[in-house]
Amino acid sequence: MAATATELVIFDCDGVLVDSEPISIAVLVAALQAAGVTMSEDEAHERFLGKSLKTMSEILHEDYGLAIDDRFLEEMRKRLYARFRTDLRPIEGIRDVIDRLAVPHCVASSSQPERIRLSLSVTGLIDCFEPNIFSASMVAHGKPAPDLFLHASACMGVAAEHCVVVEDSPAGIQAAKAAGMRVLAFAGGSHARGARHRDALASLDPDLLFDDMRDLLQFVAKEKGDGKPL
Ligand SMILES: [Mg+2]
Repeated sequence: MAATATELVIFDCDGVLVDSEPISIAVLVAALQAAGVTMSEDEAHERFLGKSLKTMSEILHEDYGLAIDDRFLEEMRKRLYARFRTDLRPIEGIRDVIDRLAVPHCVASSSQPERIRLSLSVTGLIDCFEPNIFSASMVAHGKPAPDLFLHASACMGVAAEHCVVVEDSPAGIQAAKAAGMRVLAFAGGSHARGARHRDALASLDPDLLFDDMRDLLQFVAKEKGDGKPL
């Protein structure tokens, strides 16, 4: 069978381009605590990683009886964005990887467009992606549904089988697979270093599980150079 060439690399944002998850989880747990729901960072991580605010609201309503209102969200966003402005860092090596990537690329994230743009701006990555930034707010169903990745690939004019997704969350890996795309699971973010998270990613059978972002070039180049699929 002929090898499938990569014509588009779709990056998730949180935990793949920016090391945002420890900040997001800490802000979320504090906001929930203030609303009367006690949840550990581990539990929040397990239940909400890679999911949109809409999905998170549904889970909190169904499982914890907490109705999230606009004021709660607005307050949480304000705190999160303030922390991002001071503390958010890019994933190590990512800028160099993107500068050297010889394949078109875009971002597809569960976050709101303003949050994606803020994250990429404060970490100096925005010029690598603008205007190819896709948010779950643009589709009906967030990850783990395939909608967002299919929307991104359609906008970029590349068929699903020629796309490679880089993801750090189980929901994202499931979404990429449901979209019929190859998926590389990145386990190098600060939140992903534990064996439990790594095992959760591995159990979803990604095409590759890797820890150093700089290795991405080698994987994509290998596939392009020797004609073998990833
Ligand atoms: Mg992520």
